[in-house]
Amino acid sequence: MRIGELLKQGQFSISFEFFPPKTAEGEEELFQTIYSLQELAPAFVSVTYGAGGSTRERTKRVVKRIHEETKLTTMAHLTCIAHTKEELFNILKEYREIGIENILALRGDKPTGDFSPPQEACTYAYQLVSFIREHFGGWFSVGVASYPEGHPESPNMDWEVKYFKKKVEAGADFSITQMFFDNRYYYEFVELCQRAGIDVPIIPGIMPITNFRQVQKFASMCGADIPQSLIERLEPYADNPEETLKIGVDFAIGQCLDLMEKGVPGLHFYTLNKSRATLMVYEGIKSAIRL
Ligand code: FAD
Repeated sequence: MRIGELLKQGQFSISFEFFPPKTAEGEEELFQTIYSLQELAPAFVSVTYGAGGSTRERTKRVVKRIHEETKLTTMAHLTCIAHTKEELFNILKEYREIGIENILALRGDKPTGDFSPPQEACTYAYQLVSFIREHFGGWFSVGVASYPEGHPESPNMDWEVKYFKKKVEAGADFSITQMFFDNRYYYEFVELCQRAGIDVPIIPGIMPITNFRQVQKFASMCGADIPQSLIERLEPYADNPEETLKIGVDFAIGQCLDLMEKGVPGLHFYTLNKSRATLMVYEGIKSAIRL
């Protein structure tokens, strides 16, 4: 099923994001997670991609396994920054051959050190979206990333919205946001997008906190603000995983219920390949889900 079509039907979408594990054991654990989350009948699941192409084979293998071993709609993330157009074409062609219909088109973070993109590469995500439309027409439903607090490289929110719009004009059907912990950023961003004429669904990305130090690191890398009141709740329990989980889940439930009340098109959970926190959040919000 193409995610863009599904969202057009107005159905509320719950979705889960995974990363491709490095080891066979990690992959088996991931599939246990996938089987338990499958019970929640997500609209789709997605698998991340290493920006330098480092996970090319692993991402493909996990995407293929989910597609073949489950009934889940699967979306492959694809980053363009370090690939030639020929490589991008071949990856997309392989996905089409196995029946994958959804791609999250990303630029990826620029590798550190001496990096120059390959000749004629797609250096921004909007170019990858155009490339997909040019070579694969409507076969893929194409999603893109968006940043309610601004991408770290964007000098201000007008810039952010301008280049997000470019991705939509290039043919993106929907967007998934970077994680955020203060819903006001999301609401303000959606309003800016609407004023700019962006009309694709913008699905909020939710990260249930299970590890305080890890989430602080992620948040500072991607520029997501953690509210002081939440830091004060979490900090005393930084070395107590059970208490952190309880606080993180409780916070995520409140965040999701508020977003659902305001009519968001869906919720996309960053699962970090574990099911427990996501299952607990789902339990707390399921009575509010409109199907
Ligand atoms: P772009 O949309 O190209 O934007 C990058 C920056 O360039 C922005 O500041 C934008 O405003 C600016 N910009 C865009 N066009 C122009 C232009 N023409 N001129 C000047 N400036 C411009 N990373 C991974 O490596 N693998 C993943 O699987 C992955 N999945 C993600 C999933 C989600 C939902 C999100 C939100 C992010 C994900 N990322 C992933 C992170 C993402 O790759 C990084 O944030 C990356 O730095 C930007 O990618 P982008 O596709 O948003 O880039």
